[in-house]
Order: sequence, then C-alpha cells, then structure tokens
Amino acid sequence: MQSSSTKRITTRIIIAVLGIGVIVLLVFLIKSQFGKVEEENTNPVRTVIGTSVEGRVIEAFTFLPKPIDQKKNTNLLFVGGIHGGYEWNSVLLAYMALDYYTVHPDEIPDSMTLTIIPDANPDGTYAVVGKGGRFTVSDVPDGKPTAPGRFNANGVDLNRNFDCKWKPESTWRGDIVSAGSGAFSEPESKALRDFILENKPDAVVFWHSQSNAVYASECENGILPETLDIMNAYSHASGYSAVDSFDAYEITGDAEGWLASIGIPAITVELETHETIEWERNLLGIEALFEYFR
Ligand SMILES: [Zn+2]
Repeated sequence: MQSSSTKRITTRIIIAVLGIGVIVLLVFLIKSQFGKVEEENTNPVRTVIGTSVEGRVIEAFTFLPKPIDQKKNTNLLFVGGIHGGYEWNSVLLAYMALDYYTVHPDEIPDSMTLTIIPDANPDGTYAVVGKGGRFTVSDVPDGKPTAPGRFNANGVDLNRNFDCKWKPESTWRGDIVSAGSGAFSEPESKALRDFILENKPDAVVFWHSQSNAVYASECENGILPETLDIMNAYSHASGYSAVDSFDAYEITGDAEGWLASIGIPAITVELETHETIEWERNLLGIEALFEYFR
C-alpha cells in the first residue's frame, strides 16, 4: 500500500505532466493557426533577387497565376527606380502598383504572373531619400540635389551597364557617365539580369521620369513587333506619347536594349515630372497590357 505522501507526489507529477501537455498542445494549435495565416498571405511572393553595392536588398514581389487557368501563363515584369533617387517617383509608383494589386489581386488576369521590382537601385534612392526600402513623398528632402542619386554607390549609371552596345562611358543629356568596368559589372544589373534570365518574362516595363512618353527598345536588330504593340497599348491607355526610337543623345548599355537583344519586348515609361506618381494613368497602362496579353 502507498503512503499518503507517495500518493501526493504521484498526483502532483500527474498534474504537472498534464499541465505541460496542455501547454504543448496550446503552442502547437497557436503555431499552426499562424502558419495558416502565413500561407494564405503568400501572394505576392517576396524574393530577394540580389544586393546593392552597399548591401541593400533588391526585392521582387510576384503575384502567382491562379490555378484555375494555366493554359496561357503570361509573365509580366515592372521595374522602378533603376535611376534611384533621381527618379524616386518611379519607386513610389512601383510600390503603389504593388499595394494596389495586393488589395485587388482579382484584377490580375487568372493566367498571369505579375512581378514588381520596386527599386532596382536602392543605394541611389537612399542617397536622396535617406531611407532604405519603403518611403513616402514626405521623406524626400526639399531642395536636395537629386542627380547624384541617379547612379549606384560605384557612381555607375545602371541603365548604361547592360550588354547592348556596351561602352565604358556613355551619355546622359550632355554629360559623360560611367557605364561600369564591363557589361553587368554592377551587382544591381547582375541581379536584374539573373532574375530575367531565370523567369523569362513575356514583357518588361521600366518606370522612369521625366520625359512624359513611352519608348520602344532595340539593340542591333531593330524593334521587336510586340514591343511596338505594347508601347502603343500603354501609350493609348495612359496618354503618354509613344516614341519608337530615343534619339536625343546616344545611349549604350541600356537595360531595355539588352532585353531586345535577347528577344524580350521592353518599354520605358517616363513619368511627366520628377515629383508626381501619376498612378491613375499608369493603372490604365498596366490594364492595357493585361488586356493585350489576356
Ligand atoms: Zn531614368
């Protein structure tokens, strides 16, 4: 027969074991609940596609196609901020698009993969805005010169660092700019290149400012017919004038030209000013591309 003190100890052990069991069960239930929430919120999928010279992350956000319609999966890519803080409004426009489709995913065609890279030159943006990642118009200092923020932290114009007619020096308006030590010498251009080669988008749109126009792209073999189609579609919907060939000054090593050279249609959308986001016009442009590829 057990003594009463042995019984008491046994009872306490049983209570303790049951208590631990209940706690473990609760932790498991809470964890699995949070796990579910995370799973439901995986659209868009965030990917770090590379890091800048100063180690800032370059992010891509991808809205995956809906499983009900896989017959024609079109893959569209939108890129903001390749000219960093000089064109900070293109970064805010890209974040606006990201936020809009996060709230309205049903407006993306079922068969479409939509990727947005809000800031392809985070060091350049940081140089002007003084913040990494997301920012707002009120973060942009008044009167601060923005031209230095056009370049990456190595002083390279990233939109002259791609492999289309690349030269060590290129032009921007009347100025000579560094195009890097070779095509894709910069980590930011490499990150974009690798993402594009891996994901093979059907079309790419680069948001810039401030020429108030949509430009086609070409390298050595002229403009791809589909590039003209999407330029005209975006232009017609948004009201930015369509320009087949940029001939104000010679550009070498531009990202759009490289895309043309590998057979991917690409357009440059230049906002009207350096300060305005112009969301409504660009939403119409995006929708026109959805319609074109639907
Ligand atoms: Zn630009």
